Amino acid sequence: MKALVYHGPQSKAWEEVPNPSIVDPTDVIARVDTTTICGTDLHILKGDVPAVTDGRILGHEAVGTVTEVGSAVTDLEPGDRIIIPAVTNCGKCSYCKVNQPSHCQTLGGIGWVFGHLIDGTQAEYVRVPFAETSVHRVPEGLDDEDVLFLTDALPTGFEIGVLNGRTQPGDTVAVVGAGPVGLGAVMTSGLCGAGRVVAVDMDQNRLDQALELGATDAVNASDPDAIDQIKALSRDGLGVDVAIEAVGIPQTFRTCLDIVRPYGTVANVGVHGKPVDLPIQDLWISNVTVTMGLVDCSTVDKLLSMVSSGKLEARKMATHRFGFDQFEEAYDLFANAADHQAVKVVISR
Ligand code: NAD
Ligand code: ZN
Repeated sequence: MKALVYHGPQSKAWEEVPNPSIVDPTDVIARVDTTTICGTDLHILKGDVPAVTDGRILGHEAVGTVTEVGSAVTDLEPGDRIIIPAVTNCGKCSYCKVNQPSHCQTLGGIGWVFGHLIDGTQAEYVRVPFAETSVHRVPEGLDDEDVLFLTDALPTGFEIGVLNGRTQPGDTVAVVGAGPVGLGAVMTSGLCGAGRVVAVDMDQNRLDQALELGATDAVNASDPDAIDQIKALSRDGLGVDVAIEAVGIPQTFRTCLDIVRPYGTVANVGVHGKPVDLPIQDLWISNVTVTMGLVDCSTVDKLLSMVSSGKLEARKMATHRFGFDQFEEAYDLFANAADHQAVKVVISR
């Protein structure tokens, strides 16, 4: 088969590799029908994720069709269309039992994330470990694009942003950074009843995309009075109830501390390459909660029911489409388009 293989920093190739085969009885093999690219793939390609080594097949978001099942798999069969989330779930360890598979103990305390420690989904076929406890059937009537972004961008924005942020009905939520993950938070904050969703970014395209995807307000982070503008949009001008950091730099973390109200929550989603200042000596008096975390993909069923009922139009994140022979073009557009014209690219057979 062909797959997109990582060959060290700045190097990848769509090349011939052996087809995956069943290793454990709980595996299935799936034909990948549709996949996409994540900002994390770009971090890997820069060499920022040392756990990913030469020869690893990239990608961790896909919709596919089961082609082969292991001997212990009883409720999936060839022909089933499945959503393959970024993180697998062994279903047995103490973490997976409580739906926290990003700390699955079966692999030694770090989740089985495709395209990281196991081969990924930017390939014609993929081996899916612990298939029965990890994948979700595509409901009748939904197509691949309806559910593709439930594999990472949307659950990350929802779980680590909106839910960790303890979003309550009527809350004002500010999402700082309107990339695919921040937009995932924008799109799902309404599911918890947020009254106002303020998108904050420096890029006008991103702000327009956020308004299109459900933000009620947009503030340009480059405006000198951006903090005041955001606070003015909160219920009583005292600050937002939930500030979601979805960039991963000290400056935007600081912005979140500046815009959150007393008793509010800063939900950090961004992956920070450097330490950030957490001025506890000033913050304690504000009763602010700061949260952070790695996505579990534990809410895919919930998000799926929202898609099925029409409450969540996940497919609206798709802005560009490519074939499997166009991975280079797809990466180029996703990584390099200076004006952020792409939200998510869809790569299909
Ligand atoms: P992205 O780079 O595509 O988007 C970031 C956005 O932030 C862009 O729109 C950019 O214009 C904006 N931005 C940059 N500087 C800014 C500033 N000073 N003020 C306001 N906006 C600014 O990233 P993404 O793929 O959407 O991911 C967002 C973050 O989430 C990244 O740090 C990523 O690593 C992280 N992430 C975390 C998890 C998790 O499990 N916690 C999972 C996936 C991704
Ligand atoms: Zn586990």
